[in-house]
Amino acid sequence: MLTIENLYKSFGKLVAVNDFNLHVKEGETAVLMGPSGCGKSTMIRMINRLIEPDSGTICVSGTEVTKLDLEGLRRVRKRIGFVFQQFNLVGRLTAVENVMLGLVMDGIPRDAAYDKAMKALEKVGLEKRAQHKSAEMSGGQQQRVGIARALAFEPDLMLWDEPTASLDPILVREVLVIMEDLAKYRASSMLVVTHEISFAIHVADRIVLMDKGSIVEEGMPEDVFGHPASHIGQQYKELIE
Ligand code: ATP
Ligand code: MG
Repeated sequence: MLTIENLYKSFGKLVAVNDFNLHVKEGETAVLMGPSGCGKSTMIRMINRLIEPDSGTICVSGTEVTKLDLEGLRRVRKRIGFVFQQFNLVGRLTAVENVMLGLVMDGIPRDAAYDKAMKALEKVGLEKRAQHKSAEMSGGQQQRVGIARALAFEPDLMLWDEPTASLDPILVREVLVIMEDLAKYRASSMLVVTHEISFAIHVADRIVLMDKGSIVEEGMPEDVFGHPASHIGQQYKELIE
């Protein structure tokens, strides 16, 4: 589904991602964790080439993303949903208008876009709030609109970069519940960067631990957190105990 081979990225002298290799299977949820600055965001942003890799290959659903020209990239990005820490909604637009925006820009007629957007809002439990201005919603609701915006394209792959990091602790839960539902439903493969360790333990099929640009350990949650083989894994284990 997603295959990353020998991925490498440096910023000047700083090597941010170093010989990174990862495979995420169809419907699988992999959670990527590691200390601040270890290269998680750089890595995940290279998957749809928001950041250009220096070298290496990335394949999504059989398409080699790293080879594509701009037109091909535009096409494959529709298959990849991306949810960021920042919601990036248009505040003066309603929830449903925010979700419709990308669909309409993609050439989908307004009526069809409206139906798709409403379906996506249903999946995040916001169908009753569809006509509210996004600026007047809570952070958790805004992030759920952000998730609906990604889901509206029915992506093969969902990428999440700390989707709960800018939320009030009380609002974190409502976003994690949606993510957990999506993981269970297995409509898309998911790669999730998060510091939410309880989510990682309960929802991940696989944990991937990263340090200084490379994977130091990966495996099932019970193995990685129960019997860690790496220093980073050991630190997480101590956090849980
Ligand atoms: P966090 O958990 O804090 O979000 P992260 O694991 O996502 O951290 P990255 O944002 O990928 O880490 O950064 C990896 C390294 O690359 C860091 O040392 C960072 O300072 C550096 N870096 C990231 N983007 C750039 C850039 N555009 N220019 C220069 N250095 C960068
Ligand atoms: Mg980051």
